[in-house]
Amino acid sequence: MSTPPYRGRFAPSPTGPLHPGSLLAALGSWLLARHAGGQWLVRVEDVDPPRTVAGAIDQQLATLAAMGLASDGPVVHQSRRDGLYQRALDRLLATGQAFACHCSRRDLATQHGIHHHCVARSERAQPAIRLRVPPGSTVAFEDGLRGRIAQDVHAEVGDFVLRRADGFWAYQLAVVVDDGQQRITDVVRGADLLDSTPRQILLQRALGLPTPAYLHLPLLLDANGRKLSKSEAAHPLDPSQPLPALRQAWADLGQDRACLLGATGPAALLARARAHFDPSRLPRQDIAPCPSPG
Ligand code: GLU
Repeated sequence: MSTPPYRGRFAPSPTGPLHPGSLLAALGSWLLARHAGGQWLVRVEDVDPPRTVAGAIDQQLATLAAMGLASDGPVVHQSRRDGLYQRALDRLLATGQAFACHCSRRDLATQHGIHHHCVARSERAQPAIRLRVPPGSTVAFEDGLRGRIAQDVHAEVGDFVLRRADGFWAYQLAVVVDDGQQRITDVVRGADLLDSTPRQILLQRALGLPTPAYLHLPLLLDANGRKLSKSEAAHPLDPSQPLPALRQAWADLGQDRACLLGATGPAALLARARAHFDPSRLPRQDIAPCPSPG
């Protein structure tokens, strides 16, 4: 069987402006795709309207364009893909792999929030739909940077939500259906999602989809050691100043700053970055900010 051509992606949620941590994931996934001679796609993960910030989608896409990072195909918006998600859910319901669940967060509090069987004290107007995760569902995969990762999804996560009780699609379902439908071969993203990968692999198996290769990049931390987060609107990128941001992301990816000297625009800088990128230099540890002087 021949290996399918490399297809990577960057999939931001529009919860605020892109920040240096998002650029790290965007540039890292772009460089790895180019290094493999592959394609790189942008997907807008706007399935969570309560967390979507007005204007953030356009702002994020404009910032990526200013950085010279352009999708190799049409930008996909998850909010326009209900039919795909519904068909996947219907298949899982029809085979008994998914089930309706009326449990609330409060009902599950006595079980540490983990669902192993329904304990609902009342019916909801609209139940959530969960994937059944039987005992023995341990999933292991080889992360491109961190090596072998294993999780007992039954014990640590339990039956997880595919469609929420408020009717919105869960991230786990949308991301798996889209990675499958877009024939993504390589998922490169921040290490905050490491914990989600075993769930996504289980769901791929349930839907008969191939499992891509995974590589989780280190996170940029704030001064308190927490992940920089878009929703806190921390340090948004300035699209009018792409070069310093790209240079910083390049250095945070463990690459040699000197390789980019002299580039006067994003296209020239990215061409150099692509030529000099060395995946073996990618850091394995999260990145703390430099202490401020004084
Ligand atoms: N939408 C997610 C985020 O912005 C990323 C999902 C993914 O790369 O799988 O954190």
